[in-house]
Amino acid sequence: MKIFNTLTRRKEEFVPLEPGKVKMYVCGPTVYNFIHIGNARPMIVFDTVRRYFEYKGYEVNYVSNFTDVDDKIIKKAIEEGVDSEVISSRYIEECKKDMEGLNVKPATTHPQATQEIDGMLEMIRVLIEKGHAYPAQDGTVYFRTASFKDYGKLSHKNLDELQSGFREIKVTGEEGKEDPSDFVLWKPKKEGEPYWDSPWCQGRPGWHIECSVMAKKYLGDQIDIHAGGEDLVFPHHENEIAQSEAANGKPFATYWMHNAFLNIDSNGHIQKMSKSLGNFFTVREISEKYDLQVLRFFMLSAHYRSPLNFSAELIEASKNGLERILTAVERLRDAGKSAGERTEGDGGATSEEQARMAEAQEFAVKYEAAMEDDFNTADAIAAVFELVKLCNSTVSSDSSLAYIDFMKKLLEKLCDVLGIITERKAQILDSEIEAMIQARQQARKAKNFALADEIRGKLLDMGIILEDTREGVKWKKA
Ligand code: AMP
Ligand code: ZN
Repeated sequence: MKIFNTLTRRKEEFVPLEPGKVKMYVCGPTVYNFIHIGNARPMIVFDTVRRYFEYKGYEVNYVSNFTDVDDKIIKKAIEEGVDSEVISSRYIEECKKDMEGLNVKPATTHPQATQEIDGMLEMIRVLIEKGHAYPAQDGTVYFRTASFKDYGKLSHKNLDELQSGFREIKVTGEEGKEDPSDFVLWKPKKEGEPYWDSPWCQGRPGWHIECSVMAKKYLGDQIDIHAGGEDLVFPHHENEIAQSEAANGKPFATYWMHNAFLNIDSNGHIQKMSKSLGNFFTVREISEKYDLQVLRFFMLSAHYRSPLNFSAELIEASKNGLERILTAVERLRDAGKSAGERTEGDGGATSEEQARMAEAQEFAVKYEAAMEDDFNTADAIAAVFELVKLCNSTVSSDSSLAYIDFMKKLLEKLCDVLGIITERKAQILDSEIEAMIQARQQARKAKNFALADEIRGKLLDMGIILEDTREGVKWKKA
């Protein structure tokens, strides 16, 4: 299996630290709002990487954090007049709902930064003791980048260039730095902010130290894969390497994987989707129009290192593509049922069918070859489509049960590795519910109470409970 490693800028053969096991850490979102579909890209991509490893028989320990202490969370908390914790726990729950809709498996552990402060204090203490960090007058603790000779090895930057670049930018409040490229490990609290006691000052951790500590606690000093979006290469991951390797005295991650951006056309410019640019769609918004399986399928339709543009046309195309696969599986299930009901004994696959099965197996080989080549899901999906085509053109009411079963299981298995659920869900879109409620209101207005009741009954069958209130009709899922 080959993985493109940002550290070496080459595809390398995957060799685990421990045979049969994969330890991977994926940087998770900062929880101050609903996640947008750009944030969903690493979730879907690295969940698929995990699924492929599991398919190959590896035991995967998958850790992905929630950053639950951050300026943006504090700002939102102040706006709403609540504690930061109210904001972060609300959006962690919402994020987990989105992940479930996207069929992203829960991580083995989802640590939260605020629960891991002791580990951070300890790592900072070790870094100071080893001369890799220093407290400034105001209690801020900085990492001494000049003390770590490999600084820049991930982002392929040269420390001298970095230093001269940084020298141009003078940041107020950072006068205590020995060097402009030093970065914060611990910072003093400001009025109204959450804080913890420490030997240096009451304050809170810097963002980078969180991930170094959570990876160490849940996976150990050395891990196989560290992943995230490409915007994290510098400074976040570069700084994580410096902290972890300086503190632990061992190489941190063997492979560094980074997904490219999900972009969007904003006023004729293709730009990264981001909260700060305001050009985003939340996963929740998409779920109002599409089954989130469509979004997952869309994300996997491109290689994870290629930029991907989001557009209404492309998501529609993904919907149709996914539909083709689901229809093929449904046909196989129906054909299997009728073949099973046939009174005469099933003679097993005919020699013609056996030849087709060998052909199908070739597509599975192609699929695996694509996944082994740095998780090329685009080519893997192309192999799935070839299999779909073969099924559609060869399975009929005369096919043997053995043949139908073989094709169905193969197709289901290949979809499952991509996290695509082949069982068609009776998915109810919010817009459909709203439309039915509207129709019921109209029926009531027209005094057609029988129809109004019938609609209410239908909604109830769909698991939707209506409540007539003074402000109008409210609904909830049972
Ligand atoms: P954040 O909450 O901004 O720290 O982002 C969480 C994860 O989403 C990180 O791995 C980011 O690199 C990733 N990410 C954010 N925006 C995008 C985007 N437009 N395309 C792909 N990945 C993104
Ligand atoms: Zn991180």
